[in-house]
Amino acid sequence: MSSNSLRDADIRYVLHPYTNLAAHEAQGPFMAMRGEGIRVFDENGKDYIEGMAGLWCASLGFSEPRLKEAAMRQFDLLPFFHQFSHKSHEPGILLAQKLIEMAPVPMSHVFFANSGSEANDTVVKIVRYMNNALGRPQKKKIISRQRGYHGVTVAAASLTGLPLNHRNFDLPIEGIRHTSCPHYWRYGQEGESEQQFTDRMAAELEEMILAEGPDTVAAFIAEPIMGAGGVVVPPAGYFPKIQAVLKKYDILMVADEVICGFGRTGKAWGSQTFDIQPDILSCAKALSSAYLPISAVMVNERVYEAVKKGSAEIGAFGHGYTYSGHPIAAAVALETLAIYEERQIFDHVANVGPTMQAALRQLETHPLVGNARGIGLIGALELVADKDHKVPFDPALGVGAQVVARAQDEGLILRSMAGDIVAFSPPLIITESEIEEMMARFNRALSAVT
Ligand code: PLP
Repeated sequence: MSSNSLRDADIRYVLHPYTNLAAHEAQGPFMAMRGEGIRVFDENGKDYIEGMAGLWCASLGFSEPRLKEAAMRQFDLLPFFHQFSHKSHEPGILLAQKLIEMAPVPMSHVFFANSGSEANDTVVKIVRYMNNALGRPQKKKIISRQRGYHGVTVAAASLTGLPLNHRNFDLPIEGIRHTSCPHYWRYGQEGESEQQFTDRMAAELEEMILAEGPDTVAAFIAEPIMGAGGVVVPPAGYFPKIQAVLKKYDILMVADEVICGFGRTGKAWGSQTFDIQPDILSCAKALSSAYLPISAVMVNERVYEAVKKGSAEIGAFGHGYTYSGHPIAAAVALETLAIYEERQIFDHVANVGPTMQAALRQLETHPLVGNARGIGLIGALELVADKDHKVPFDPALGVGAQVVARAQDEGLILRSMAGDIVAFSPPLIITESEIEEMMARFNRALSAVT
């Protein structure tokens, strides 16, 4: 089909996720036609550095042949089987074993799903199921955070702490609470040190738990770094303080590693970078370098034993997806994890990350940039109208979106989020010189907006 016909068909037939549909009818799609390394190419052959690795996910870039080969081998052998009712298959078993070996803390068992949202919906259900099995049906509430992002299915969107995901969807569901967002630069009070801010975050969480009743709160869920909420890096010591509160009231720690998992922060897990000891961990995205949809929930022994008890009483753990542990997706994930090890991708991120971080920090002198932040290969610039007073732009101006549009003209794909925050999350295979090229393209875009 010609690119013009494709464009017309897109407008006519595709209901785009996360898109202003009315604006899309006028604007039409940006179509990526092929990929190579960290780049994608449009219908005219113009190259774009994918500064977001798609949606924080295509960790090995857009042309890793070994993932195709792994998929093809599994296609030939067994393209589908499932994991319901005692059924199993080799890639699903090997992937579960591998994840348990890699886990940041001792974990017991792995449940597979297809997306981060499904993984986090599964977390909500496991937490409920566990506490029913333990005979404490009142202990069900889950505390998440304002600006946290955990997906869009009904329960996961409820965990998400962003108005866009609740408004007009009649969410959140019952039993979800949102505590404060640990964005010190934005929410730190006049004269408050980072440590005082962290103490306040922990105190506010404890107040919420006490107000709800500790016997009613089952779990706390957090991304090590908030991604879609604006790349919010927690202050030093934040998670240890939060976890001390959770421990006091027997509340599970759930790490949503959907973005941070598999090297994004320069270690295998964000939990390792930020000193988190999760009881439950969800992951997706870079698990398969996004080449096929697959996600996983790891649970520790205590959680597993409770779910096992419940399933024995009821007759089965009544949860699972047709494609849980899909063999081709699992084979691609196994190959992805093998590549991470062979090419020492997590160390590579730790080595080249500082180049990207330094380039972002340098932009703090720019009149539009209020704050630059990040670690490893995840970062962001928060754009403001008045740097001295951190005054945000009027959202109607869409300054972040304008910068991202100019970047696209320059051959760089980025994402802006609420609060005019421009995020960077390139494929983990990016080299130093490619980071320099990415930042040169970005600087030209930023100058065009100024
Ligand atoms: N959790 C986090 C931290 C995410 O960033 C995302 C997606 O960006 C999700 C969950 C939801 O994942 P998915 O879009 O695969 O459902």
